[in-house]
Amino acid sequence: MSSFRIATVRGIPIKIHWTFFILPLFYGLSAGSTAGAVRGVVFILLLFACVVAHELGHSIAAQFYGIRVKEILLLPLGGLAQITRMPRRPIHEFFIAIAGPAVNILIVIILGLLVPSVLDLRRLSQQAVALAGVDLLRDLTIANLYLAVFNLLPAFPMDGGRVLRALLNMVLPLTTATSIASWVGRVFAIGFVMLGLATSSWTLTLIGMFIFFGAGAENSMVQQGARWQARTVADLMRPATSLHPFDLIGQIEPMVRASAQPVYPVIDGARLEGMVSREAVLQGLHYFGAGTPVQAITARAHYVHPDIPIDALYEILSMRHLPGVLVIDGKQLLVVVGVDDVLQVVNPA
Ligand SMILES: [Zn+2]
Repeated sequence: MSSFRIATVRGIPIKIHWTFFILPLFYGLSAGSTAGAVRGVVFILLLFACVVAHELGHSIAAQFYGIRVKEILLLPLGGLAQITRMPRRPIHEFFIAIAGPAVNILIVIILGLLVPSVLDLRRLSQQAVALAGVDLLRDLTIANLYLAVFNLLPAFPMDGGRVLRALLNMVLPLTTATSIASWVGRVFAIGFVMLGLATSSWTLTLIGMFIFFGAGAENSMVQQGARWQARTVADLMRPATSLHPFDLIGQIEPMVRASAQPVYPVIDGARLEGMVSREAVLQGLHYFGAGTPVQAITARAHYVHPDIPIDALYEILSMRHLPGVLVIDGKQLLVVVGVDDVLQVVNPA
């Protein structure tokens, strides 16, 4: 188990990844004194409370639009609110993305009101400042300001990048908007890595690398999703040769071997008895011999309606390890669709 739950808010489990504990440990150990160590750990915990609040901002906005939030995961580099689906409209994505940084701005305002001296410490002695914990609050205020500004940089898939994508998506198709946002994100990412290397800031270097790969991954996910959504099973159907239960494996084997049809409906008169895969015919010949009827190797028929989307079909094929399915509209057997046809749509040559 690599992460564990610390709380549940509005039905959303808040989980901490084990690597998260490296951070307070690091700050505790790198401090010069015990008091410094305690302060460092307290600061990190308060900061992460703010990160949780940021993620809850995204989550509550998502729930407002009827999107389920699977969990909030806390990693050393920050939090991650995992929403279960894309927002339906660009304006929804805009508000979900901006809700996180907005929470940090709110925290800055509240801290500023609670401790008016937070941003003006010149009148207090250093000792008084430390005793009152004011310096801790000041650091927390600055950190929240930093969190809001950094997250709002248009470095997709960070919040600012999502805001950019949402704005572009108001006038452009999702695929184009995502392509542009992810290129902008990658330029920022390269900038972060170079700045991180130049200043020996490993955190910034690492964040830059995460953004670079994250932008690429999310872009290809959106492009692939669009390819899938545009097509239904009806686009992939091919005419099917059917078999009779009493056909002998030896008789049909040359035809099956020469054909690319992945599965065969087994039909007796008007009755669908089941289906046989190309693989099953070739193996049946090997194990049972040429004189065995097709009946002996017939399996249960798996069929789908021509209207189902390709991604749903892909799930059925991969979950049941099927080489293909029959397509049936009402009572009528139309054709078959194989896993290779589906894969060709997903990864066109
Ligand atoms: Zn965020």
